Amino acid sequence: MAYELPKLPYPYDALEPHIDAKTMEIHYSKHHQGYVDKLNKALEGCANLQKKSPEEILVFLDQIPEEIRKTVHHNGGGHLNHSLFWRWMAPAGKGGGGEPQGKLLEAISKTFGGFQEFKNQFSNAAVTHFVIGWAWLALDRDGVLRIFSMINQDNPVMRGMKPILGLDVWEHAYYLKHQNRRPEYVEAWWNVVNWKEVENNLNQWN
Ligand code: MN
Repeated sequence: MAYELPKLPYPYDALEPHIDAKTMEIHYSKHHQGYVDKLNKALEGCANLQKKSPEEILVFLDQIPEEIRKTVHHNGGGHLNHSLFWRWMAPAGKGGGGEPQGKLLEAISKTFGGFQEFKNQFSNAAVTHFVIGWAWLALDRDGVLRIFSMINQDNPVMRGMKPILGLDVWEHAYYLKHQNRRPEYVEAWWNVVNWKEVENNLNQWN
């Protein structure tokens, strides 16, 4: 049983002009496919480990044989994070952009003082993270939402938290269009955030 690239929920050019088609194509068909392929290769012959979800792999990394642990950590995280990331976006005006509603807005307002304050804090986490990695909104074990960044392909499940929304700030996510201007990419990305999906994500854990 091999891990598989999930179907992209929209065409490569659907997030234009905010995320360009070429970036989407390479990000999905080369980078994400690469994580899937390398994960499958690393776990060849490990029937028990292949049954684990990518979340389980990250949570129980100590159960992975040491000689493949780094590879499995990196590519399992890459597979998990990107599978989530595609769903957290939608074409602007067709599910993407705008503001969160309902319980999600309530939770965000309660924790961060309002949507704009949340956006500022999250953008700040994304822009100031100075190595490769992701910015995260995650639900902590005490039920509180937290914003932070993590390196490489790490995921909040590694801290016992539930990922609610994440932003890829590896250069491969934006370099073709925005070059080194990460703040511009982060600003553009808000136009394609799929708040309905983010809310579903939160409801799943509440
Ligand atoms: Mn990426």
